[in-house]
Amino acid sequence: MSQAQTSAPEHNVTGIDYARREHFCYRGPIIDIHTHVTQTRPGDPPAGPPPENRAGATSEQAAVMLDVAREFGIVKSVSMCPPEDIPVLRQRFGDAIGFNGSIVKKTVDDPDDAAIRLLERFLEQGVAIIKYWSAPRGRERGLFVDAPWRIETTRRAIAAGVRIFMVHVADPDAWFGTVYADAGKFGTKAEQYVGLRRMLEMFPEAAWIGAHMGGDPEHPDHLQALLETYPHLHLDTSATKWQVREISPRRTAIRDLMCRHPDRFLFGSDLVTRQHLPREHYVSRYWCQRTLWESDWQGPSPIADPDWQQAEQPTPPLAGVRLPMAVLDKVYFRNAEKLLGNLHVAGCAPVLS
Ligand SMILES: [Zn+2]
Repeated sequence: MSQAQTSAPEHNVTGIDYARREHFCYRGPIIDIHTHVTQTRPGDPPAGPPPENRAGATSEQAAVMLDVAREFGIVKSVSMCPPEDIPVLRQRFGDAIGFNGSIVKKTVDDPDDAAIRLLERFLEQGVAIIKYWSAPRGRERGLFVDAPWRIETTRRAIAAGVRIFMVHVADPDAWFGTVYADAGKFGTKAEQYVGLRRMLEMFPEAAWIGAHMGGDPEHPDHLQALLETYPHLHLDTSATKWQVREISPRRTAIRDLMCRHPDRFLFGSDLVTRQHLPREHYVSRYWCQRTLWESDWQGPSPIADPDWQQAEQPTPPLAGVRLPMAVLDKVYFRNAEKLLGNLHVAGCAPVLS
Protein backbone atom coordinates (compact mmCIF):
# COMPACT_ATOMS: atom_id res chain seq x y z
CA MET A 1 0.00 0.00 0.00
CA SER A 2 1.17 3.49 -0.73
CA GLN A 3 1.59 6.06 1.98
CA ALA A 4 -1.46 7.88 0.68
CA GLN A 5 -3.57 4.74 1.16
CA THR A 6 -2.33 3.94 4.63
CA SER A 7 -2.98 7.47 5.85
CA ALA A 8 -6.35 7.79 4.11
CA PRO A 9 -9.35 8.06 6.43
CA GLU A 10 -11.54 4.96 6.75
CA HIS A 11 -14.46 6.86 5.25
CA ASN A 12 -12.56 7.72 2.07
CA VAL A 13 -9.77 5.28 1.21
CA THR A 14 -9.96 5.95 -2.52
CA GLY A 15 -9.97 9.75 -2.36
CA ILE A 16 -13.40 9.94 -4.00
CA ASP A 17 -15.28 13.22 -4.38
CA TYR A 18 -18.52 12.65 -2.47
CA ALA A 19 -19.95 15.81 -4.02
CA ARG A 20 -20.30 13.84 -7.29
CA ARG A 21 -23.90 12.71 -7.10
CA GLU A 22 -25.06 12.96 -10.68
CA HIS A 23 -25.74 9.20 -10.65
CA PHE A 24 -28.48 9.69 -8.03
CA CYS A 25 -31.86 9.54 -9.76
CA TYR A 26 -34.31 9.54 -6.83
CA ARG A 27 -35.72 12.91 -5.78
CA GLY A 28 -38.23 11.94 -3.08
CA PRO A 29 -37.96 11.61 0.70
CA ILE A 30 -36.15 8.75 2.44
CA ILE A 31 -36.68 7.22 5.88
CA ASP A 32 -33.62 5.68 7.56
CA ILE A 33 -35.15 2.92 9.69
CA HIS A 34 -31.89 1.80 11.33
CA THR A 35 -29.61 4.30 13.07
CA HIS A 36 -27.92 4.87 16.39
CA VAL A 37 -28.27 8.61 16.92
CA THR A 38 -27.38 9.29 20.54
CA GLN A 39 -25.97 12.06 22.63
CA THR A 40 -22.18 11.85 22.77
CA ARG A 41 -19.59 13.13 25.20
CA PRO A 42 -15.82 13.68 25.21
CA GLY A 43 -14.98 10.49 27.18
CA ASP A 44 -16.91 8.09 24.94
CA PRO A 45 -14.98 5.04 23.68
CA PRO A 46 -14.20 5.06 19.93
CA ALA A 47 -16.37 1.94 19.48
CA GLY A 48 -18.98 0.08 21.48
CA PRO A 49 -21.80 1.39 23.62
CA PRO A 50 -21.48 4.68 25.52
CA PRO A 51 -20.79 4.55 29.27
CA GLU A 52 -23.61 4.70 31.81
CA ASN A 53 -22.60 8.11 33.09
CA ARG A 54 -23.90 10.55 30.51
CA ALA A 55 -22.68 13.71 32.25
CA GLY A 56 -21.45 16.27 29.75
CA ALA A 57 -23.27 14.63 26.84
CA THR A 58 -24.40 16.81 23.93
CA SER A 59 -26.45 16.37 20.78
CA GLU A 60 -23.95 18.19 18.54
CA GLN A 61 -22.87 15.05 16.67
CA ALA A 62 -26.52 14.10 16.26
CA ALA A 63 -27.07 17.53 14.69
CA VAL A 64 -24.18 16.94 12.26
CA MET A 65 -25.44 13.50 11.27
CA LEU A 66 -29.05 14.59 10.81
CA ASP A 67 -27.90 17.59 8.79
CA VAL A 68 -25.99 15.26 6.45
CA ALA A 69 -29.01 12.94 6.38
CA ARG A 70 -31.22 15.80 5.22
CA GLU A 71 -28.70 16.61 2.49
CA PHE A 72 -29.19 13.04 1.20
CA GLY A 73 -32.99 13.33 1.29
CA ILE A 74 -33.53 11.58 4.61
CA VAL A 75 -36.51 13.15 6.32
CA LYS A 76 -36.63 10.84 9.31
CA SER A 77 -34.06 8.68 11.11
CA VAL A 78 -35.24 6.04 13.57
CA SER A 79 -32.67 5.73 16.32
CA MET A 80 -31.63 3.20 18.92
CA CYS A 81 -30.41 5.24 21.87
CA PRO A 82 -30.55 5.05 25.66
CA PRO A 83 -34.02 5.95 26.99
CA GLU A 84 -32.68 9.03 28.77
CA ASP A 85 -31.48 10.49 25.44
CA ILE A 86 -34.93 10.35 23.84
CA PRO A 87 -36.50 13.52 25.32
CA VAL A 88 -33.40 15.59 24.54
CA LEU A 89 -33.17 14.38 20.93
CA ARG A 90 -36.92 14.65 20.37
CA GLN A 91 -36.92 18.21 21.71
CA ARG A 92 -34.11 19.26 19.39
CA PHE A 93 -34.95 17.35 16.21
CA GLY A 94 -38.73 16.86 16.31
CA ASP A 95 -40.15 14.81 13.44
CA ALA A 96 -36.71 14.23 11.93
CA ILE A 97 -36.11 11.55 14.54
CA GLY A 98 -38.01 8.48 15.77
CA PHE A 99 -37.05 5.87 18.35
CA ASN A 100 -36.40 2.17 18.67
CA GLY A 101 -35.85 0.68 22.14
CA SER A 102 -33.17 -2.01 22.32
CA ILE A 103 -33.95 -4.59 25.01
CA VAL A 104 -30.75 -6.26 26.19
CA LYS A 105 -29.16 -7.59 29.33
CA LYS A 106 -25.67 -6.39 30.23
CA THR A 107 -24.71 -9.72 31.81
CA VAL A 108 -26.20 -13.19 31.72
CA ASP A 109 -27.00 -12.81 35.44
CA ASP A 110 -29.14 -9.69 35.03
CA PRO A 111 -32.63 -10.47 36.35
CA ASP A 112 -35.51 -10.60 33.87
CA ASP A 113 -37.00 -7.66 35.77
CA ALA A 114 -34.18 -5.47 34.48
CA ALA A 115 -35.29 -6.13 30.90
CA ILE A 116 -38.93 -5.45 31.81
CA ARG A 117 -37.96 -2.17 33.49
CA LEU A 118 -35.94 -1.16 30.44
CA LEU A 119 -38.95 -1.90 28.22
CA GLU A 120 -41.15 0.22 30.48
CA ARG A 121 -38.75 3.14 30.22
CA PHE A 122 -38.85 2.92 26.44
CA LEU A 123 -42.64 2.59 26.39
CA GLU A 124 -42.93 5.71 28.56
CA GLN A 125 -40.96 7.52 25.85
CA GLY A 126 -43.27 6.32 23.09
CA VAL A 127 -40.85 4.23 21.01
CA ALA A 128 -42.19 2.98 17.67
CA ILE A 129 -40.03 -0.14 17.48
CA ILE A 130 -38.48 -2.66 19.89
CA LYS A 131 -35.09 -4.11 18.94
CA TYR A 132 -33.61 -7.48 19.87
CA TRP A 133 -29.89 -7.64 19.22
CA SER A 134 -29.08 -11.32 18.95
CA ALA A 135 -25.73 -11.72 17.24
CA PRO A 136 -23.75 -14.92 17.91
CA ARG A 137 -21.36 -12.95 20.13
CA GLY A 138 -24.33 -12.16 22.39
CA ARG A 139 -25.03 -15.81 23.21
CA GLU A 140 -22.69 -15.76 26.20
CA ARG A 141 -24.92 -13.03 27.65
CA GLY A 142 -28.02 -15.07 26.90
CA LEU A 143 -29.14 -12.66 24.16
CA PHE A 144 -31.12 -15.25 22.22
CA VAL A 145 -33.86 -13.63 20.19
CA ASP A 146 -36.39 -16.03 21.71
CA ALA A 147 -35.08 -15.89 25.30
CA PRO A 148 -38.06 -16.20 27.70
CA TRP A 149 -37.60 -12.63 28.91
CA ARG A 150 -37.75 -11.38 25.33
CA ILE A 151 -40.93 -13.35 24.69
CA GLU A 152 -42.33 -11.60 27.77
CA THR A 153 -41.19 -8.12 26.65
CA THR A 154 -42.72 -8.80 23.21
CA ARG A 155 -46.07 -9.67 24.81
CA ARG A 156 -45.96 -6.54 26.95
CA ALA A 157 -44.86 -4.29 24.10
CA ILE A 158 -47.68 -5.55 21.87
CA ALA A 159 -50.17 -5.04 24.71
CA ALA A 160 -48.86 -1.46 24.97
CA GLY A 161 -49.42 -0.85 21.25
CA VAL A 162 -45.97 -1.51 19.74
CA ARG A 163 -46.36 -3.16 16.36
CA ILE A 164 -42.79 -3.35 15.03
CA PHE A 165 -39.88 -5.48 16.22
CA MET A 166 -36.38 -5.36 14.76
CA VAL A 167 -34.00 -8.27 15.11
CA HIS A 168 -30.28 -8.63 14.50
CA VAL A 169 -29.59 -12.30 13.86
CA ALA A 170 -26.44 -13.83 12.43
CA ASP A 171 -23.49 -11.86 11.06
CA PRO A 172 -21.40 -12.00 7.88
CA ASP A 173 -20.62 -15.48 6.51
CA ALA A 174 -16.94 -14.57 6.72
CA TRP A 175 -17.11 -14.36 10.52
CA PHE A 176 -18.34 -17.94 10.87
CA GLY A 177 -14.97 -19.09 9.56
CA THR A 178 -13.01 -16.82 11.92
CA VAL A 179 -14.40 -15.23 15.11
CA TYR A 180 -17.30 -17.70 15.21
CA ALA A 181 -15.31 -20.78 14.16
CA ASP A 182 -16.24 -22.42 17.50
CA ALA A 183 -19.74 -23.56 16.46
CA GLY A 184 -20.26 -25.25 19.84
CA LYS A 185 -20.11 -21.83 21.47
CA PHE A 186 -21.61 -19.55 18.83
CA GLY A 187 -23.79 -21.93 16.77
CA THR A 188 -23.68 -22.27 13.00
CA LYS A 189 -25.07 -19.51 10.83
CA ALA A 190 -28.17 -21.61 10.07
CA GLU A 191 -28.80 -22.10 13.79
CA GLN A 192 -29.06 -18.34 14.29
CA TYR A 193 -32.41 -18.40 12.47
CA VAL A 194 -34.14 -20.97 14.71
CA GLY A 195 -35.07 -18.38 17.35
CA LEU A 196 -36.11 -15.81 14.75
CA ARG A 197 -38.47 -18.28 13.07
CA ARG A 198 -39.94 -19.13 16.47
CA MET A 199 -40.64 -15.48 17.26
CA LEU A 200 -42.12 -14.89 13.79
CA GLU A 201 -44.46 -17.82 14.40
CA MET A 202 -45.36 -16.76 17.95
CA PHE A 203 -46.14 -13.15 17.03
CA PRO A 204 -47.67 -13.01 13.54
CA GLU A 205 -49.67 -9.91 14.50
CA ALA A 206 -46.50 -7.78 14.60
CA ALA A 207 -44.28 -6.54 11.78
CA TRP A 208 -40.75 -7.86 12.06
CA ILE A 209 -37.64 -6.31 10.53
CA GLY A 210 -34.55 -8.45 9.96
CA ALA A 211 -31.71 -5.95 10.28
CA HIS A 212 -28.81 -5.94 7.80
CA MET A 213 -30.72 -7.73 5.00
CA GLY A 214 -31.83 -10.31 7.54
CA GLY A 215 -28.18 -10.99 8.33
CA ASP A 216 -27.78 -12.97 5.12
CA PRO A 217 -27.12 -10.82 2.02
CA GLU A 218 -24.78 -13.64 0.99
CA HIS A 219 -27.78 -15.90 0.29
CA PRO A 220 -30.67 -14.26 -1.59
CA ASP A 221 -32.33 -17.69 -1.89
CA HIS A 222 -32.50 -17.95 1.91
CA LEU A 223 -33.97 -14.45 2.15
CA GLN A 224 -36.51 -15.40 -0.51
CA ALA A 225 -37.57 -18.45 1.51
CA LEU A 226 -37.92 -16.38 4.69
CA LEU A 227 -39.99 -13.70 2.94
CA GLU A 228 -42.26 -16.30 1.37
CA THR A 229 -42.79 -18.18 4.63
CA TYR A 230 -43.33 -15.10 6.80
CA PRO A 231 -45.46 -12.38 5.19
CA HIS A 232 -44.90 -10.11 8.23
CA LEU A 233 -41.10 -10.14 7.84
CA HIS A 234 -39.24 -7.16 6.37
CA LEU A 235 -35.52 -6.66 5.78
CA ASP A 236 -33.50 -3.48 6.20
CA THR A 237 -30.52 -2.51 4.05
CA SER A 238 -28.29 -1.36 6.91
CA ALA A 239 -24.60 -2.09 7.60
CA THR A 240 -23.08 -0.36 4.62
CA LYS A 241 -19.69 -2.10 4.38
CA TRP A 242 -21.29 -5.53 4.65
CA GLN A 243 -24.00 -4.79 2.07
CA VAL A 244 -21.59 -3.18 -0.40
CA ARG A 245 -19.20 -6.13 -0.13
CA GLU A 246 -21.81 -8.89 -0.47
CA ILE A 247 -24.52 -7.36 -2.62
CA SER A 248 -22.26 -6.03 -5.37
CA PRO A 249 -21.14 -9.51 -6.52
CA ARG A 250 -24.76 -10.77 -6.59
CA ARG A 251 -26.54 -7.61 -7.60
CA THR A 252 -28.78 -9.29 -10.18
CA ALA A 253 -30.09 -11.86 -7.70
CA ILE A 254 -30.67 -9.16 -5.06
CA ARG A 255 -32.37 -6.90 -7.59
CA ASP A 256 -34.68 -9.75 -8.63
CA LEU A 257 -35.44 -10.51 -4.99
CA MET A 258 -36.29 -6.91 -4.16
CA CYS A 259 -38.40 -6.54 -7.31
CA ARG A 260 -40.33 -9.71 -6.41
CA HIS A 261 -40.96 -8.37 -2.87
CA PRO A 262 -40.85 -4.57 -3.18
CA ASP A 263 -43.02 -4.08 -0.08
CA ARG A 264 -40.65 -5.94 2.22
CA PHE A 265 -37.41 -3.92 2.18
CA LEU A 266 -36.58 -0.78 4.15
CA PHE A 267 -33.71 1.66 3.74
CA GLY A 268 -31.33 1.69 6.72
CA SER A 269 -27.79 2.92 7.29
CA ASP A 270 -26.76 1.65 10.76
CA LEU A 271 -24.88 4.93 11.22
CA VAL A 272 -23.75 5.60 14.79
CA THR A 273 -23.04 9.08 16.16
CA ARG A 274 -19.64 9.24 17.83
CA GLN A 275 -18.01 12.18 19.51
CA HIS A 276 -15.05 12.65 17.19
CA LEU A 277 -16.44 11.59 13.83
CA PRO A 278 -15.93 13.99 10.91
CA ARG A 279 -18.94 15.01 8.84
CA GLU A 280 -17.61 13.03 5.88
CA HIS A 281 -17.96 9.75 7.80
CA TYR A 282 -21.75 10.16 7.68
CA VAL A 283 -21.57 11.35 4.07
CA SER A 284 -19.67 8.19 3.07
CA ARG A 285 -22.35 5.78 4.30
CA TYR A 286 -25.30 7.62 2.79
CA TRP A 287 -23.40 8.09 -0.47
CA CYS A 288 -22.59 4.36 -0.70
CA GLN A 289 -26.11 3.27 0.27
CA ARG A 290 -27.77 5.47 -2.33
CA THR A 291 -25.16 4.59 -4.95
CA LEU A 292 -25.74 0.88 -4.28
CA TRP A 293 -29.53 0.95 -4.54
CA GLU A 294 -30.39 3.54 -7.16
CA SER A 295 -27.48 3.58 -9.62
CA ASP A 296 -25.39 1.28 -11.77
CA TRP A 297 -22.19 3.00 -10.62
CA GLN A 298 -19.22 0.68 -10.50
CA GLY A 299 -15.85 1.13 -8.88
CA PRO A 300 -13.88 0.34 -5.75
CA SER A 301 -15.83 1.03 -2.56
CA PRO A 302 -14.51 4.24 -1.01
CA ILE A 303 -14.88 2.83 2.53
CA ALA A 304 -12.22 0.77 4.32
CA ASP A 305 -13.53 -2.74 5.02
CA PRO A 306 -11.62 -4.95 7.48
CA ASP A 307 -13.62 -7.97 6.27
CA TRP A 308 -12.31 -7.61 2.73
CA GLN A 309 -9.24 -9.81 2.58
CA GLN A 310 -8.21 -9.72 -1.07
CA ALA A 311 -4.82 -8.15 -1.25
CA GLU A 312 -4.94 -7.12 -4.90
CA GLN A 313 -7.50 -4.39 -4.17
CA PRO A 314 -7.71 -2.37 -0.93
CA THR A 315 -11.51 -2.24 -0.87
CA PRO A 316 -14.26 -4.42 -2.34
CA PRO A 317 -15.97 -3.47 -5.60
CA LEU A 318 -19.17 -1.47 -5.31
CA ALA A 319 -21.57 -2.33 -8.15
CA GLY A 320 -24.95 -0.61 -8.02
CA VAL A 321 -28.19 -2.62 -8.08
CA ARG A 322 -30.18 0.14 -9.83
CA LEU A 323 -33.63 -0.67 -8.54
CA PRO A 324 -36.57 0.53 -10.66
CA MET A 325 -37.97 3.87 -9.47
CA ALA A 326 -41.27 2.37 -8.27
CA VAL A 327 -39.34 -0.11 -6.10
CA LEU A 328 -36.97 2.57 -4.81
CA ASP A 329 -39.92 4.70 -3.76
CA LYS A 330 -41.16 1.83 -1.60
CA VAL A 331 -37.79 0.80 -0.19
CA TYR A 332 -36.65 4.35 0.53
CA PHE A 333 -39.93 5.70 1.89
CA ARG A 334 -43.34 4.10 1.42
CA ASN A 335 -42.74 0.84 3.27
CA ALA A 336 -41.38 2.56 6.36
CA GLU A 337 -44.06 5.21 6.20
CA LYS A 338 -46.69 2.49 6.14
CA LEU A 339 -45.14 0.65 9.08
CA LEU A 340 -44.59 3.75 11.19
CA GLY A 341 -47.97 5.28 10.35
CA ASN A 342 -48.48 8.04 7.85
CA LEU A 343 -45.89 10.71 8.36
CA HIS A 344 -46.28 14.37 7.71
CA VAL A 345 -43.40 15.22 5.45
CA ALA A 346 -43.90 18.77 4.30
CA GLY A 347 -42.71 19.63 0.82
CA CYS A 348 -41.29 16.19 0.11
CA ALA A 349 -43.73 14.40 -2.18
CA PRO A 350 -41.86 11.61 -3.94
CA VAL A 351 -41.24 12.24 -7.62
CA LEU A 352 -41.88 9.11 -9.63
CA SER A 353 -40.01 10.16 -12.72
ZN1 LIG B 1 -27.48 -1.23 14.29
